Amino acid sequence: MKILIVEDERKVGQFIEQALREQAYTVRVTPTLAAARDALAESPYDAVVLDLGLPDGDGLELLREWRAAGFNEPVLILSARDAVDDRIRGLNLGADDYLPKPFSVDELVARIRSLLRRQSTGPRHTVLEHRGVRLDLLARTAECGGQPVELTSREFALLELFLQNPRRVLTRTLIAEKVWDASYDLETNLIDVYVRRLRQKFERDGEAPFIKTVRGTGYQLA
Ligand code: CA
Repeated sequence: MKILIVEDERKVGQFIEQALREQAYTVRVTPTLAAARDALAESPYDAVVLDLGLPDGDGLELLREWRAAGFNEPVLILSARDAVDDRIRGLNLGADDYLPKPFSVDELVARIRSLLRRQSTGPRHTVLEHRGVRLDLLARTAECGGQPVELTSREFALLELFLQNPRRVLTRTLIAEKVWDASYDLETNLIDVYVRRLRQKFERDGEAPFIKTVRGTGYQLA
């Protein structure tokens, strides 16, 4: 389990990092909005702890950006600003929990554990649909315009990743980690080969591309 902590106070960041490492989580601390933006674009996380007062802006702005871009990682807001307004604003913007500073580290760890549990057992869509493409996660079947399409298990996993993140640009690193468990060498063009196969199976003549290439970054469902 990987947790991203966005916190500019070094001591607080280290304190949280140490507590989470003791629970066997993998932790990365970023002290600015800019660094957090890069971290989340580079690699997937299972949860994010987000401070609001950061040297280059407001954590809530970053949360708004993430949610608009389709990032669905659970976010716990951490802030000295315990005003009801901020709490409501944060939750309205898509935060999953809010912990006012000062907090006990045991409580933080407990809340993160609960977020991760909710994430893994929460109601999930079992049928994903997009522009005539239909993926049934329980039956493990795919259809395009009502016609069954045969997929290998890797193609299925890749298509599922696209359909679970319809508005998000998926970087090659993220795709490799989620679909290949990062066990595959990024220098090969395996991801491109698999994307091409999905395009061949799901794109119909004369229609807009089903998966678009985002130059230098990765791919996005179109
Ligand atoms: Ca701060």
